[in-house]
Amino acid sequence: MRQVEDEIARQDWKGMRCGCGRSAAHIARELLRITAGGARDEATSRDFEQHVWSPVVLYEPAPAVTSVLLAALAAEPAPDTRFRLLDLLQSLVTGEGTDPDSARRGLDLPELCRERAARGIELLHREVLSNRSPGAAGAAFEILTVLDPDRARLRDLRETAADWLPVCCRTGLCHDWWEDEEESRKAAG
Ligand SMILES: [Zn+2]
Ligand SMILES: [Zn+2]
Repeated sequence: MRQVEDEIARQDWKGMRCGCGRSAAHIARELLRITAGGARDEATSRDFEQHVWSPVVLYEPAPAVTSVLLAALAAEPAPDTRFRLLDLLQSLVTGEGTDPDSARRGLDLPELCRERAARGIELLHREVLSNRSPGAAGAAFEILTVLDPDRARLRDLRETAADWLPVCCRTGLCHDWWEDEEESRKAAG
């Protein structure tokens, strides 16, 4: 857990504006609690809604939180905690907009989160293959469908993990690009 605390300490939380209008210092405290395994029963992503992410935009602390989540996942926490971390990571990498203050400063928060999260592609592949918990494997796979440019490798992963991935991942319901790509290949060829 040492690397996680270091990663949290490296970010300038006080200098960031949280989605709730306060400084992001309380986000750092919440992250410490979760990565130490002391999360409440609710899903982690919900706890951070309107602070770090919302269905419409991401807020300034989102890229810093992404870095902390990767460090936390690399530290091999218990399955329950892994799922919470992945659930929150998924909310960040699928973000579609940037809060107006950050946008005025030229920041593209979803893009920044995806760039940072891409460093965890190998880790996410291992998460899917390890099949430690179905929820975590599915979340990791869905994150990869956003991040991993190697589509052929993802197709292999989907086949290898077909026995334990959720049905949406096996059938492509949660990621329609495979079929889209097939279509455009046919159209082009
Ligand atoms: Zn807040
Ligand atoms: Zn799925």
